[in-house]
Amino acid sequence: MNEKIVEDIINKVMNQLVNEAPTSLVDSKESIAIPVELSARHVHLSEQDAIALFGGPLTHVRELSQPGQFLCKERVRLIGPKGVIDNVAILGPSRDFSQVEISKTDARILGTETPVKHSGDIDGTPGIILASHKGIVGLEKGLIVAGRHIHMTPGEALKMGVSDKDLVSVHIDGDRPAILEDVCVRTNENFRLSMHIDLDEGNGAGWNKNVSGRIVGKHKETSRGLHIH
Ligand SMILES: [Zn+2]
Repeated sequence: MNEKIVEDIINKVMNQLVNEAPTSLVDSKESIAIPVELSARHVHLSEQDAIALFGGPLTHVRELSQPGQFLCKERVRLIGPKGVIDNVAILGPSRDFSQVEISKTDARILGTETPVKHSGDIDGTPGIILASHKGIVGLEKGLIVAGRHIHMTPGEALKMGVSDKDLVSVHIDGDRPAILEDVCVRTNENFRLSMHIDLDEGNGAGWNKNVSGRIVGKHKETSRGLHIH
């Protein structure tokens, strides 16, 4: 083999190694403290399902941390094969498809095998029954455990060396510090910087409202094939 070929092979292998290894962002980019918020179980309803359950449009109670999102006055009961969960919050505005976001603990209570999915990726997910005082709706799909994610502006993403749909590892500085992997970066000009994890994840890391997260690494792609829209 001549030297050129050997050199090419070495370069190729080195490039592969560099690309496969999680990139450390701590040295090269600003390590920004990201506020961590807990997402309690909640439901997004299509207009049609909202009408079937409550006879009319949803009632706005208060704005949530992400602009445009709001908590509704209406509450709903989830009915699974093994159990029910009452008083579940509904978040507006209404969407094209209803989606129910629960924790793995909730999934045990309901008796459903519920996959971790990113919001909107509901094909092939299990269904669930929703009930109110006025109506009942059987969803054929839409029950998910929401994948953890960070909302940020494109400017903040640039500072942190990440971009939309990147999967990163985040160190959480709770009472039980933890590094969470497969955290999906979502960027939008209107987003307010915050990381969203569910109750199980929050309790696992000893969350309180002063806890923050820092990006400590970036994955090329998830090992579990999470689908990101
Ligand atoms: Zn979120």
